[in-house]
Amino acid sequence: MAKQGTLFVVSAPSGAGKTTLVREVLNRFDGVSYSVSHTTRPPRTGEVDGKDYFFTDTDTFKALIDDGRMLEWAKVHNNFYGTSKAFVEEQLALGKSIILDIDVQGGRQIMDKNLALISIFIMPPSLEILAERLSGRGTDSEDVIQTRLDNAKEEMAQRSFYDHVVVNDDLDTAVEEICSIFARAMEGS
Ligand code: ADP
Ligand code: 5GP
Repeated sequence: MAKQGTLFVVSAPSGAGKTTLVREVLNRFDGVSYSVSHTTRPPRTGEVDGKDYFFTDTDTFKALIDDGRMLEWAKVHNNFYGTSKAFVEEQLALGKSIILDIDVQGGRQIMDKNLALISIFIMPPSLEILAERLSGRGTDSEDVIQTRLDNAKEEMAQRSFYDHVVVNDDLDTAVEEICSIFARAMEGS
């Protein structure tokens, strides 16, 4: 039987740089898969269905919950997001490690399940820089950015529940830090 993979949970306030850092991890580590979530959020320009998210309507999303097919789910910034239970179970059984890029509510749900996992919280250097990054990304309207900033403080207050906190100030330094967490965890598994 294949050795069980490692489950990684990565959370951050929107705009802290989670997508950027997770992309680097996926480039560097062959045996790590990304869990593609389901969401009712509309796709951003350039996002691909089945790669970035499975984009669904609210009725379909609720049916997935009712059928017990979500490992965790949450309403985040006014949209639903959730993780497929089957995908996570299959990948771990195949010996693949998985990254769940999920919000703090989902992170707490997974931690409460007593699964073996490594959790990482990514912090922006400051709220001002977070606001600059969200505007600079150019993917969201002012309203959406404001909602995300309003939620950021509450999300950051949850960081003490995570095994590791990485401050994403200088990008190269943050990449090295998160990659060394993955390297250590995968050596030890
Ligand atoms: P998240 O996935 O957490 O919402 P992104 O990875 O999309 O955040 O990053 C938000 C924006 O900030 C993007 O435009 C990205 O290029 C930029 N960014 C990410 N990390 C850094 C960094 N260390 N320094 C400067 N800009 C960054
Ligand atoms: P975005 O809309 O910027 O892609 O993501 C918004 C937030 O939703 C981020 O914090 C992201 O981590 C979170 N998210 C993405 N997928 C999931 C998921 O499956 N479950 C939960 N709980 N949060 C998710």
